[in-house]
Amino acid sequence: MDYLPVFLSLKGRRAVVVGGGHVAARKVDALAKAGARVTVVAPRLLPQLAGRAAASALEHLATEFSPAQLDGAALVVAATDDAGVNTAVSRAAQVRQIPVNVVDAPALSSFIFPAIVDRSPLVVAVSSAGGAPVLARRVRAQIEALLPARLGALARFMRDRREKVHRALGTAGRRAFWERIAGGATASRVLAGDEAAAAETFARELLNSQLGASQPDGRTLGEVYLIGAGPGDPDLLTMRALQLLQQADVILYDRLVPDAVLERARRDAQRIFVGKEPGEHAHQARINELLVDLARQGKRVARLKGGDPCVFGRGGEELEVLAAHGIHCLVVPGITAALGAAACASIPLTHRRLSHSVTLVSGHAALDGSLDWRSLARSAQTVVFYMGIAQLPRIVARLRAAGAAADEPAALIEQATLPGERVLRADLARIAELGDLEQIASPALLIVGAVAAVTGVQVAATAPGVMAVPAEALA
Ligand code: SAH
Repeated sequence: MDYLPVFLSLKGRRAVVVGGGHVAARKVDALAKAGARVTVVAPRLLPQLAGRAAASALEHLATEFSPAQLDGAALVVAATDDAGVNTAVSRAAQVRQIPVNVVDAPALSSFIFPAIVDRSPLVVAVSSAGGAPVLARRVRAQIEALLPARLGALARFMRDRREKVHRALGTAGRRAFWERIAGGATASRVLAGDEAAAAETFARELLNSQLGASQPDGRTLGEVYLIGAGPGDPDLLTMRALQLLQQADVILYDRLVPDAVLERARRDAQRIFVGKEPGEHAHQARINELLVDLARQGKRVARLKGGDPCVFGRGGEELEVLAAHGIHCLVVPGITAALGAAACASIPLTHRRLSHSVTLVSGHAALDGSLDWRSLARSAQTVVFYMGIAQLPRIVARLRAAGAAADEPAALIEQATLPGERVLRADLARIAELGDLEQIASPALLIVGAVAAVTGVQVAATAPGVMAVPAEALA
């Protein structure tokens, strides 16, 4: 290790920055955030630094550098573009035994600034010992993406209760207790922004811990994460989905969730396939039971569904069951298939001139009398049919009978965002025939409306009636 990483307390202490440009301004920002009293030595200042000086948020010495300016400083930064001045600052600081950083000159520095992820009070610092700052910044960005935005709130929540836990539990129990808090329902509630609910689970956990694990209700509280896995491409998971998938103990997943998504989950999590075959209704009751049982055992259960859990995903039913059993459930939205498919095909679901609304329709409903076909057949809107492939001719016939034009644009999108993705376009009169010819199979969506003909790229006409309107023609 070339440097020892430490976190330096600068609250109320003097820090001197020599230089008044952009780099100096960034260092001043960082030092001020850490509570330092900052002095800037520079004949001229950038407007943003001058503004701070005017507001008395920093002291400005509008002179050339002289060594005595460093007296009494806890930390010094040289950020001028004059190598001679930077060297003089370094020497003067080292003579006074003050830690000094010269920007981009590790040889003149006694410390270096790391790249940081700031979830104060939790801070991650990354350094390449000055040798590969671009790499350090990339690592920082990767960590940034992994850490929940409200991690700082969680760190504060835990800090504020540290003493109380100290008084309530013995040394042996404390660590296990905090592990349960950091990885359980309390943490996920804070991270979801619900501190009041988190305070409740925290109090229950603490009571359980005081009663001891031998008590019947002394076990950890389990919970369920109802997670949308998106349309298939694992890169389309949300950050929160990823974070929760990495902490869940058990994952219940559907047929639509591809292996590539499961691979992003915690390696040692138990995986249970609960995919339903079409028309298998009794199955849902078994899934509900399983969810309740696992959560009662204290498990963190990820219920992973294709697309969004609450768009044709029975998410609502599972939420009701969990609520009825008093089990906490966190819903994580996912990109629903219509949005993923539209993006694949460069179809804008709404368009200022072509479509002012989007309707998501279950193709199953094409079989019963529950849909208002006249309203679905109107122009200047977009209608997306899910689960409609088996009923394609019937859906088209119903739309046509309700007044939709034969030349209304339509598109079929199969395996959207997945490696086997296909996009077919035709007018409404021919779309079912084209789907049959090309053997389009589930999962696929039918999009009907003028926007279905919009495309950023020219499509090859694979069948008569296939159309393409370049996006620029509609601009
Ligand atoms: N909750 C899911 C929908 C479940 S219903 C969501 O929000 O997307 C299942 C239907 O979704 C399939 O029959 C198909 O119509 C559609 N679907 C899901 N994933 C798809 C994909 N990758 N490409 C095309 N259609 C998809």
